[in-house]
Amino acid sequence: MENLLEIEGLRSELEKTRRKLEDKEMVFDSILESMLAGYWDWHIPENYEYLSPTFKSMFGYEDHELPNSPETWQKIIHPEDLPKALEAAKRHFETRGEFPYTNEVRYIHKDGSIVWVFCKGKVIKWDEDDNPVRMVGSHIDITELRQALETANYIKQLEAKNRELAQFAYVASHDLQEPLRNLNSFADLLSQNHARQLDNEGNQWLGYILEASSRMSDLVKALLDYSRIGRDTKLTLVDCNRLIETVQEDYALKIEETETVVKKGKLPTLKGYETELRLLFQNLICNAIKFRKKNIAPQIKVTAKKRKNEWKFSIQDNGIGIPDKYSERIFIIFQRLHPRSEYEGTGIGLSHCRKIVELHGGDMWVESEFGHGSTFCFTIPVLN
Ligand code: ADP
Repeated sequence: MENLLEIEGLRSELEKTRRKLEDKEMVFDSILESMLAGYWDWHIPENYEYLSPTFKSMFGYEDHELPNSPETWQKIIHPEDLPKALEAAKRHFETRGEFPYTNEVRYIHKDGSIVWVFCKGKVIKWDEDDNPVRMVGSHIDITELRQALETANYIKQLEAKNRELAQFAYVASHDLQEPLRNLNSFADLLSQNHARQLDNEGNQWLGYILEASSRMSDLVKALLDYSRIGRDTKLTLVDCNRLIETVQEDYALKIEETETVVKKGKLPTLKGYETELRLLFQNLICNAIKFRKKNIAPQIKVTAKKRKNEWKFSIQDNGIGIPDKYSERIFIIFQRLHPRSEYEGTGIGLSHCRKIVELHGGDMWVESEFGHGSTFCFTIPVLN
């Protein structure tokens, strides 16, 4: 009787322990699931490796689609990363676990895409000859993290390249000014003091030299201005209504001469770089006047609309318009669609404008129908 009671007691103890174990296993599994980690359990001498369902689903497979064996992961790991993973395991074994087993490797997803995985494992059982018997570990998907890091690195590289380019443009244009000034002055002196010694052809050529060097001065100055955009500028509250009024005041004569009508809607006061924004409006308004149709007075409409967290500005004119195929080209530095004999200019104004808009974090584009006017649009994000 006593024995029976004892057996009953042992049985209930065993049952309790079994339940406890089951409970622990459940907690363990749910921790792994909630971590979205894949779990593996490698029984080395038997060449059996349990691969958890999350391990398999990380690479797009159902549990039943992949057998539980070490060959499975060796088949789907990126072939270039397999030697690295095997080498890390070998070192972990040879140092009897002293050298930790961690890895960042690529796997090939069922759909062919790359899955970056961080893997950590440990031998938990050795035999008497220090051979590994059982190793467990887990995997987490770090693809998004890797992509974010790659993007951040790419942005850093781009920023460095941008700084380098700006520096280059600044130094080049700055240093070009001095020899150009000399060229201008000596060509001037030659024309003033020695014009009589030259024949007609000589004077004509000298005229070409003067014209070309003065044009080059304009271009170099424009390039220098371009490279200076955004340097040493401070964000302030800018009243765009006031900016347009200043441009109208500065160009009053031109506006009157050409009978230009500038109409503006209610424009916002926003956080921005005042000098640059002024230059932006000035360039667009001046272009709208310059590229007018013959015998038709320019009509310019400046409007702004709030969209989500940005302002969209439009500067519409009734000028000559721009063929669709050139709608991007005109924003490239020194690109023009007309000879200088037809319309004066350097071809730098719109590249200035786009750089100013991008400095504010916005976009710029043109909507136009050739012969029917153009609308230059840009966005300026609302900054806090
Ligand atoms: P620029 O005015 O010195 O030529 P921009 O960079 O300001 O240089 O303009 C580039 C080209 O885009 C101009 O040469 C012209 O062909 C075209 N363009 C610019 N603004 C207008 C406009 N409002 N209407 C028609 N064409 C324009």
